[in-house]
Amino acid sequence: MKTIIEPFKIKSVEPIRFTTRPEREGILAAAGYNPFLIHADDVMIDLLTDSGTSAMSANQWAGIMKGDESYAGSKSFYAFESKVKEITGLKNIIPTHQGRAAEKILFSILGGKGKYFAANTFFDTTRANIEYTGAEAYDFLTEVGKHPEQRADFKGDMDLASLEVFIKEKDPENIPLVMLTITNNSGGGQPVSMKNIEETSLLCKKYGIPLYIDACRFAENAWFIKKREKGYADFSVPDICRKMFSFCHGATMSAKKDALVNIGGFLALNDQELALQCRNLLIVTEGFPTYGGLAGRDLEAIAIGLDEVMDEHYLQYRVRSVEYLGEKLIAAGVPIIEPPGGHAIYIDAKRFLPEVPPNQYPGQSIVCALYLEGGVRSVEIGSVMFGKYTADGQLLSPPMELVRLAIPRRVYTQSHVDYLLEVVIEVYNNRNTLGGYTITWEAPILRHFTARFKPL
Ligand SMILES: *Cc1c(COP(=O)(O)O)cnc(C)c1O
Repeated sequence: MKTIIEPFKIKSVEPIRFTTRPEREGILAAAGYNPFLIHADDVMIDLLTDSGTSAMSANQWAGIMKGDESYAGSKSFYAFESKVKEITGLKNIIPTHQGRAAEKILFSILGGKGKYFAANTFFDTTRANIEYTGAEAYDFLTEVGKHPEQRADFKGDMDLASLEVFIKEKDPENIPLVMLTITNNSGGGQPVSMKNIEETSLLCKKYGIPLYIDACRFAENAWFIKKREKGYADFSVPDICRKMFSFCHGATMSAKKDALVNIGGFLALNDQELALQCRNLLIVTEGFPTYGGLAGRDLEAIAIGLDEVMDEHYLQYRVRSVEYLGEKLIAAGVPIIEPPGGHAIYIDAKRFLPEVPPNQYPGQSIVCALYLEGGVRSVEIGSVMFGKYTADGQLLSPPMELVRLAIPRRVYTQSHVDYLLEVVIEVYNNRNTLGGYTITWEAPILRHFTARFKPL
């Protein structure tokens, strides 16, 4: 088998500004040791997120020029609508400015006090939109998904036995929908099997509860099914996608992920009555139903991106480049969540820096070291992001201390990945020189975005 190459040529480039280590020391200190506060121009390899950071194709840029900006009935809307219908088979397609806007509309209508929602794992904005209405959100991730060092093909699956206990306990009447996040964002995009999607839908059907899909990374999930699940090797990616969506009643999507664009999203659903209510709310919060918070050109680019993302050469390159990064890190002894997911590598900071306790933020220490070593920007997902305090001011830490390296789509080449490997491995080999951090200032909520730190 020959090297899997990037399935594209580069027509337009964006220069990377090189910085020296002494410069980065000054930049990091000025940013309070919080990479969220670093200017992007001071970053060499930016792995903060895979959201909205995709490189668009020449075809998508041509679509931007062709975008029809008519207020009502834009040609670009119909191109977008027919593409989403073709992929999902869902009947009502409602464009939104990003994924959370679709969630906001859906859960404002279905949520409220006394309502319960269940998922394999809710993404944080989805959970926030549910809880904001007074409803409650519960995760039922399969057991193996909770163990970073255990390998399994579908670590994003729903735990059906606990879901059923939950449904009986809360009463199906109070559960407006069950959701499957595919791929499951937690753990770096662990896939959900077709079998699990089907079985979740059967369980929901038994209790008369609609199943929705959070479809942000539907194409990456389809690729894992093709590669790992028995019986799907000869299916085309679009056929796998259609089958995945055939089990659901609706979907929310952030086009900033698997639609290969920089902004956009949608809500798709079969229920006519609910769609009517959603469109009414859309008009108040987003815009008219044929543009919903987007320009016509954005809709055009999404329609094209949704096709491009299902290309097998693209998906092979995409999933393989993340896997390649993971394999080389494992070979160098760097502890990561295994196996690598579709869009990110999670470094296990607890095993990386066992000497640094959670209240000294081991993940933040690694994030800072990666920036200093090579201008790489990553993000802590541990006690900084999810830490809470007890009444007497003790830090309550989440179960895992992680550092996420999220890989933007079609942006970096293999030599960027090789450089990244050198940086991570260098930091790992010098891990005994790394110490902890303390927070010098923090906001009352979502502190990780703006907190300032100091090395201990
Ligand atoms: C990004 C994301 C969302 C929210 O989408 P935005 O476009 O960022 O609002 C929802 N669910 C998952 C799984 C995501 O990754």
